[in-house]
Amino acid sequence: GPSGESYRRRHEISVSGDKVPAPFTSFEDTGFPPEILREVHHAGFSAPTPIQAQSWPIALKNRDIVAVAKTGSGKTLGYLLPGFMHLKRRRNNPQLGPTVLVLSPTRELATQIQEEAVKFGKSSRISSTCLYGGAPKGPQLRDLDRGTDIVVATPGRLNDILEMKRVSLRQVSYLVLDEADRMLDMGFEPQIRKIVKEVPSDRQTLMYTATWPKEVRKIAADLLVNPVLVNIGNVD
Ligand code: ADP
Ligand code: MG
Repeated sequence: GPSGESYRRRHEISVSGDKVPAPFTSFEDTGFPPEILREVHHAGFSAPTPIQAQSWPIALKNRDIVAVAKTGSGKTLGYLLPGFMHLKRRRNNPQLGPTVLVLSPTRELATQIQEEAVKFGKSSRISSTCLYGGAPKGPQLRDLDRGTDIVVATPGRLNDILEMKRVSLRQVSYLVLDEADRMLDMGFEPQIRKIVKEVPSDRQTLMYTATWPKEVRKIAADLLVNPVLVNIGNVD
């Protein structure tokens, strides 16, 4: 039905929050523009994954979201495609800094997110820059200087570059904390809090996590506003 209850039951989706919109069960439901739908079809995807189906309508309504879902469930496009829509509406100047910021725990994961952002964003002329440690800063700083709509970063390297005053986060209005539980396990909480202080508070914040322990609940309570909680496959 229109509430999406049967889809949620079939895909083990549980939601909590005010007036949670029904999941998009097909790509046609999303209202994504043709250039984005084309990329999705080129990738060979036949339907949204459950986390995408339920995340997209929430994120497109500019709501904060906490999504608890295991690895391999399609979380990256779950936040990137609404991020692209957010960018289309904002039309900020990328020379003044990113509009979308994605924090990720490791270089490998950040690189994978960057690859998806480039692949799916190219036809929409969306640019993305990846910042991670264990590599020289020079090329990353040059990428930033070219202007960028999206920054995908590990917390340590982003803080280094913030301290050098080589990037501004004052235009960021769509913040994603990907693999939040893992970032906290790796000790990134102080770094995350420092970064978030640079981001205006009237942003939209999305948090993705594989587990939902009290440390993650605490940072969600501090950084998100009235989030919708989406849980896939774990009966709590
Ligand atoms: P997670 O972040 O939840 O671990 P990813 O975003 O890395 O998952 O996605 C896992 C894989 O699923 C990737 O190879 C991605 O390209 C693919 N994928 C994403 N969305 C879909 C979809 N709607 N249909 C089929 N495959 C998808
Ligand atoms: Mg992921």
